[in-house]
Amino acid sequence: MAAGSHKSFHLPESKPHYPPEREFRTLHRKVELTLDFQRMSISGSCTMDVEPIRQDLREAHLDACELDVKSCAVDGAKADFEYDNAVLSVPLNQKNGVRSIRVEYSATPKEGLYFSAPDAEHPEKEVQAWTHNEPESARFWYPCHDHPSDKSSSEMVIRVPKGFRVISNGRLVSEREEGDGVVFHWREDTPHSSYLTSFVAGKFNRITQEVHGLKLHYNFPESKRADVLRYFGETPRIIGVLEELTGMKYPYEKYDQTTVQDFISGGEENLNATTLSMNYYPEAGTEEDFQQMYSNPFSTASSLVAHEAAHQWYGDWVTCSDWCHAWINEAWATYLESLTQRGVSVLTRCDGKCVPVRRSTSKRTRPNTGGR
Ligand SMILES: [Zn+2]
Repeated sequence: MAAGSHKSFHLPESKPHYPPEREFRTLHRKVELTLDFQRMSISGSCTMDVEPIRQDLREAHLDACELDVKSCAVDGAKADFEYDNAVLSVPLNQKNGVRSIRVEYSATPKEGLYFSAPDAEHPEKEVQAWTHNEPESARFWYPCHDHPSDKSSSEMVIRVPKGFRVISNGRLVSEREEGDGVVFHWREDTPHSSYLTSFVAGKFNRITQEVHGLKLHYNFPESKRADVLRYFGETPRIIGVLEELTGMKYPYEKYDQTTVQDFISGGEENLNATTLSMNYYPEAGTEEDFQQMYSNPFSTASSLVAHEAAHQWYGDWVTCSDWCHAWINEAWATYLESLTQRGVSVLTRCDGKCVPVRRSTSKRTRPNTGGR
């Protein structure tokens, strides 16, 4: 085709989207929340250690949508803030370097954080709360610079009623009873974007498998116990194939996968804590049904598990600095998902080395319904 005669990909009405200005780097953020399942609301605080990019920065602007902000403090001193329901402006003190900004607030989020409960039409529904931030909905449940250019370590401290569990990014630091509730404290040290910070809360059981010493946790409501390994049983093989293809070990200390009620997507690759829809549970059936389902290399649950697992490398570890690169996350996850599901014999890895990859042909056993 002659130079200049190509057709542009962009739609005529599309406009350029520029990334928001970065005033600071967030080094660490700690979100501490109490969940009210009756009111479907939250209350608590978010504390951020921020390092201004311009040393003369005298005001920080945080993305914060429809929060009821009670107070702000900078380095422990009360700060007079301004808030227009979308941007929280916090005056900084005169010192230079890292500041600690603490915001106390409550909210009944319309996005980002979702509650589910049984009702007259659906008495079988689970009482749960879960987050889904991508692309920019974290701001509806905690204040932050809600853009993938800002990556920090994080802590999540979530108080729930007794009998509930909370699963989040990184390692479980502690689980302690407090009055009529339980407080789960999670910490993730790998810097990550606001959209990958997550938690799920509900009455989850857990089955754990292992691959190369890596713990793979499958979290599910009791009603789905018989089908858990039909959904997640391919995970050890998938992680092994992805490690071969990328030439890189799975980059985090654990991998949680949790199925939640009414999830607004098929799955979301939250950092080492993927959240998935209950709709992909293969229906319980006979041994023949089970074997037939797994004879299909594109069995829906297995493809979904592979896609979100691939994102742990591409999207979460190799990570975009702007949403204009989101297609690279999705392209790699979709490509690798496809490779894990095919009976391919030899692939050229990213480093140029050829590796054999095969789907297991061994007869699969019925799911083991043990575990807690
Ligand atoms: Zn994806």
